[in-house]
Amino acid sequence: MDSGRLDGRVALVTGAASGIGKATSRRLASEGAAVVVTDLQDEAGEAVAAGIRDGGGRAIFVHHDVSSQADWEAALQATREEFERLDILVNNAGIGDTAPIEETELEDYEKTIAVDQTGVFLGMKLAAPMLIDSGHGSVINISSIFGTTGGFGASPAYHAAKGAITTLSKNAALHWAAGGVRVNSIHPGFIDTPLLDQAKGTPFEELMVSTTPMGRLGRPEEVAAAIAYLAGDDASFVTGTELYVDGGYTAR
Ligand code: NAP
Repeated sequence: MDSGRLDGRVALVTGAASGIGKATSRRLASEGAAVVVTDLQDEAGEAVAAGIRDGGGRAIFVHHDVSSQADWEAALQATREEFERLDILVNNAGIGDTAPIEETELEDYEKTIAVDQTGVFLGMKLAAPMLIDSGHGSVINISSIFGTTGGFGASPAYHAAKGAITTLSKNAALHWAAGGVRVNSIHPGFIDTPLLDQAKGTPFEELMVSTTPMGRLGRPEEVAAAIAYLAGDDASFVTGTELYVDGGYTAR
């Protein structure tokens, strides 16, 4: 593997068995980082880590539910044991809801908040000592275009959670601004991943394309490239910002 701008760095990517997390793990590894690939999906996650190792990189897979404090502690312990440090935390794992607000059950609302919002809180809280020790820690929280807009008026829990990530990221960025840890949020538009599978072939697919000025869905690799920029020293003066990777959706 070629040397790169993340040589010597260690990254933990959640939800990394699929979609944006998988592309990000591969991209960070290709730039020299050792990667802790975490997810609920063991077989697919192991395959991502194995693929990185087969390409000459360093990676392990850890089973990890981001809504569980115990799972976070175990994932960070595995990171310490295998790679001794943590420089980059990508809080990527996420789930969506689709129903309008009147049809959303409390239990379903709270589940989405637990994964998409509380998972990010737990990650930053529990990884903080390692990120501060890094001396050039970088946290990238994956929000959404739906973290700053009302979208199509459905998916209330998703919007609430992604909106919370937007300001939680700025809050943590200020808290650590002088402490060597940068925190930024990424706001993907409609990206062609398994998360969108249920929309494929429905009128919503056409709506996603037609409301995106570039006239297509994004690719996971296009989000991974933005994450790789924020992860390393090219972004050394960038903290508390929102980076949109959305084909122009929010420019309207
Ligand atoms: P994806 O292909 O579904 O990948 C997400 C991965 O996270 C899946 O492997 C999923 O496993 C896993 N996951 C779900 N709940 C988890 C939990 N509690 N703990 C750990 N892992 C969990 O989705 P994606 O499109 O790459 O999405 C990645 C992130 O980008 C999400 O935060 C999403 O909200 C955000 N995003 C996506 C888009 C888009 O258009 N795709 C747009 C804006 C923002 P399961 O398969 O078991 O659920």
